This record gives sequence, structure tokens and C-alpha cells, in this order.
Amino acid sequence: MATDVGVWDAVRWFGSMKVGIFSISFSWILPGVCLPSVCLFVMAGVLSGQSFPTKFHTSIADDARVTSALRSIEQRRGELIQEWIRLAEIPAEPGGEQARAQYARERLPASGFTDVRTDEIGNVIAELHGTDPHGPVIAFAAHMDMVFAASVPRKVRRENGKLYCPGIGDDTSGLVSLIAALEAVHQAGIKLHGTLVLVASVQEERRLQGTRYLLAKSEIHPDMFVAIDTPLGEVWYGALRVTRLKFNYTSPGSHTLTSRGKPSPARAVALAIEQLYEIPLPPVEPGLGVWKVPVINVGMLGGGTAPNAIPQEAWFTVDLRSQDASTQERLELEVLRGAKAAAEKEGVGFRMEKPSGEDVDYSKVRSREARRADPLVQTALDIQRYLNIPSVQPAPLDIGSTDANVAVGMGIPGIAIGGPYYERQHALDEVAEESSIIPGTKMLILLAVSLAELAD
Ligand SMILES: [Zn+2]
Repeated sequence: MATDVGVWDAVRWFGSMKVGIFSISFSWILPGVCLPSVCLFVMAGVLSGQSFPTKFHTSIADDARVTSALRSIEQRRGELIQEWIRLAEIPAEPGGEQARAQYARERLPASGFTDVRTDEIGNVIAELHGTDPHGPVIAFAAHMDMVFAASVPRKVRRENGKLYCPGIGDDTSGLVSLIAALEAVHQAGIKLHGTLVLVASVQEERRLQGTRYLLAKSEIHPDMFVAIDTPLGEVWYGALRVTRLKFNYTSPGSHTLTSRGKPSPARAVALAIEQLYEIPLPPVEPGLGVWKVPVINVGMLGGGTAPNAIPQEAWFTVDLRSQDASTQERLELEVLRGAKAAAEKEGVGFRMEKPSGEDVDYSKVRSREARRADPLVQTALDIQRYLNIPSVQPAPLDIGSTDANVAVGMGIPGIAIGGPYYERQHALDEVAEESSIIPGTKMLILLAVSLAELAD
């Protein structure tokens, strides 16, 4: 199928991007004499120097039913944007997703999904059954919750092709796109060997609790897992390890006038933080663009109740991130050792807090090579190129901070990709490009039919 998402459209959506790679990509494409999609295929082949298995072929996009599904997204553009706005205005803090879940439960049966249900933790699950009972099961997940409290104003502002609202992108856009894509697959009469499972997950922003419950305790055992939870143009096939710690230092306290020479939790914090930044980090992992990991960051610190006293308590937090368990464990141990040594040196009380249920189980994670070589990754990249969707980062990235982390940790092939394009996620001025819902949704249609395989 000849894609009708032109390069100029793409330039317009990403016109405001400050990421250097864009200007480079487009200066390659724009003067080209061949069709943009052909240029991109050729470029990809030359640049990667390595070929990976894929499940996407242009014949899939040429299938009359698939063409019709793709076309229907363009015809429904106005309707989809309205739905996007409607959903964005429904508040959903982590654990408070009930109103959005209600919306999904009402919306899904009308779209051809069967077995629409809500599990014990609140995930809404729906299925499009394949023709082959032994065919692959592919879970597509978008999360309903946002980092914003229900009290944060949620009126969407629509201006110059952009939508402004906290949570408009992450992950409202993913959920709208996902429902629209699978609905289009069903309505175009596309038959697939495999089964598509739609998951509107809960508590993604609370350490992926909804998907952890889904994959550990429900009857869903997907062969592949796709999280729609990045801006359009990204393909992530890894899982970032994230550890959050809080260190507390305590003392009996004392007035400033009687404080001289006495142990101070404030000084222990200062010493600990200084030591922590001295911990030698492994070299920056290549290929992650602006993200530099492994990394240790002190994000919060505080303590004391009066300026004229030794604080009875002072504390700081650590956010530790890396790409693999052994690095993560080693750095965590070093951080802990340094934090404890500061308490001993200063002679103050010491306590570490690590929120329970924080850690995702990564014990079954596959090697980087195996995860990259999984057809899931190249299929997503090929479709992205076919639709002329520019990569935001040097794609694909061995990283991840989405529901797909849970699958990756369990050894299930998993990726995170985008629906529409957005910026400034988790910020009050979050903004999305409304036209990007077209390529974002088309990408999900092609991914679903490629992975589940067309049946007659
Ligand atoms: Zn998200």
C-alpha cells in the first residue's frame, strides 16, 4: 500500500522538536529523488548493517481489508480527536481509574470486542479472538492512570493543531489509539490467526502494579506484549531497572548554642550525598541518545523543624537507574554502604526506607541480543518506516519504563511503542499533536495484523 502519510506531514508534527537527529533525518530525506518510504527502507538497511527477522511485509498493508481499516482511521479523524479530548478530561489518578474503566467497558463491546471484563485490581480486558486456537496471543496495553491528582483541572485546550492537557499524551493518547486500531481491525472484517487482547491497565504510574497483577495472576498468558506508552516514533525493547531509596538520619537534637561538637543528621546527609556522587559509575550505555545510564540521582532532601537547632531528623532520596540487574544490585549496595558509613562517621541514627512492592521481578529477562532479535522489534521498526514515521531517538532503544517492563522481566517478548506524538509528559503543560493520531493508530493496526498474521 502506498502510504498517504507524507513526509511534509511528518515535518509539520515534529517541526518544534529540538532533538538533533530530526534535522539530520529530514535533510537526508527531503532532497531525495526516490519515494520517501523507499529511501527510508534503504537507509535503514545500510545504517543498521545487520538484518533482523520481521513479520511485516508490504503485502500485508496491500491486503484490501487492511487497506480499508487504515483508510477508516483517516475518515474518522475528527471523531477520534473528539474521543481523545473526552477521555483526557476524565480524571484518573493511580488507583482512581474507575471512571475511565467505566468508559472503556461501555465502549469496547460496541466495537466488536468479546469477553470484556474487569479483573480484581481494575484492569479492563477485552479480546478479539483469532481463527486458530493455537495461534499467538498478543497483548496490547495502554494505561488508564496518570500522575496527576483528580483535583488537577482537566479541560483540554485545542490550539493550532495541538491539544494541551495534563495526561493528554501519557497515556490517554495510547488508549484512544489502541481502541480505535483494534476496532478498525474488527470492523474491516480482518481475520487473524492469533488472538488480540486489549488491556486498559491500572496503576502503571505506581510501579506497574496493574500489569504485574495481570501477568502474574490472571488467565492471560500472552506470547507477546506491546505497551502503547511512548510518544510516536519510539521503539523500546528493554526494561530500565529503577530503585528508589530514602535514607533517614536521626539525633536527639540540640539548640544551636549547645550544638558545637555534637553529631548532626544534617552533616551526615551532606557527607552521604557527597560520597554517593563519588561512586564510580560504569561508562554511559551507548545508543540511548540524551539518556545517560547508569545514573544515581538525589532528588529530594529535607529535615529539621527550626533554624536554631540540630535537626532531630534529616533525610534524602536516591533514584538509581541502570539497564541490568547486576549493575543495579552492585550500585544499590554501594549507595547503601556509603549512606550507612556517613551515619557511623557522624555518630547519628540511621534508617533506610525502600517502598515495599517496588521491585519488578527481572529474574527471567532475556539477553539484550535475544530481545533485539525478536521479530517483535523489527516488525515495529519496519512498520514505522513504512508509514514514514521518524524516529524520535536512535531507535530502537534497549530501555523501558512502561507496562512492557513486566513482560520483559518475565522473559515474554515485549516492546513499548507510541500511539500519537506528545511532549512534556508528567508535566502540567503536556501537549500532543492531534494529527499524529492518524499514523499512530495506523501503526497499531499494521502491528496487530502482522503479529497475529492474516487469515483468509
Ligand atoms: Zn505512561
